[in-house]
Amino acid sequence: MSSSDTIQRILFEEANIRGVVSRLNSSFTAVMERNEYPPVIRQLLGEMLAAVTLMSATLKFDGRLILQAQGEGSVRLLMAECSHHHQVRGIARLEGELPNTQTFIDLFQSGRLALTIEPSKGQRYQGVVPMESGSLAACLEDYFSRSEQLPTRIKLACDGRQAAGMLLQVLPATENSGEDWTRISFLADTLTTEELLSLDNEAMLYRLFHEEKCRLYEPQALEFSCDCSKERCEKALQLVGQEELLQAIQEQGGVIKVDCQFCNQIYVFDRQDILSLAPLENAKSKTLH
Ligand SMILES: [Zn+2]
Repeated sequence: MSSSDTIQRILFEEANIRGVVSRLNSSFTAVMERNEYPPVIRQLLGEMLAAVTLMSATLKFDGRLILQAQGEGSVRLLMAECSHHHQVRGIARLEGELPNTQTFIDLFQSGRLALTIEPSKGQRYQGVVPMESGSLAACLEDYFSRSEQLPTRIKLACDGRQAAGMLLQVLPATENSGEDWTRISFLADTLTTEELLSLDNEAMLYRLFHEEKCRLYEPQALEFSCDCSKERCEKALQLVGQEELLQAIQEQGGVIKVDCQFCNQIYVFDRQDILSLAPLENAKSKTLH
């Protein structure tokens, strides 16, 4: 296990406050090497990957957690996902010249930020994250305090080669003195981006909280992984409709190629594949049972 791609939980035993630190190194590289992104997008996508891994450790789900920012300007989409097995992937879609700005909120014109839980079985749940603060971390803190009534601190950092994050949060459904939260969140606010990226977890927590009773759990490994498959592509193709697909096959020399934008895997479908796709109605009722 690479110690540099990890999620590690923290507990402040006497204060009913929990925390998580996550670090992405080779998983960050794996996401970035599949597409060429400008530095500002590498940085933001890195922060989103760190954020989604932090949140995956605080929310209960069996499936995928997806953090997605959409805009109507040149940054169309940034998406970061983490599964309950701690497998991450991410993607950015850009169109035209990027605006000359570095801030999260300015990159997304008429932006929309959403947090989605896509369970392995059952209904998706989507929460809309207000995009009213200048940074991704501040928008997410806002979301947790408004929607979940959980005071939360989130620190995110990315230097273009690695990403890291720390989340602290009042434990749900516990008695918590505001004093403990004020003190611990104040200490967390003294953490610099450089410290978050360069210190190891023990040294970082000692630097911030050496006067607190702070327990660090065993780290869990994070890795890049894409769960795309030919079956998932088939489901997407079913939405297009058979007639249109057959026409596309004719125009494109006998096959349709579908490439996964997360991992660049290419899936090829020929006429026979398309003819044997179940009609959409059947596909729908299949997924209901
Ligand atoms: Zn893929």
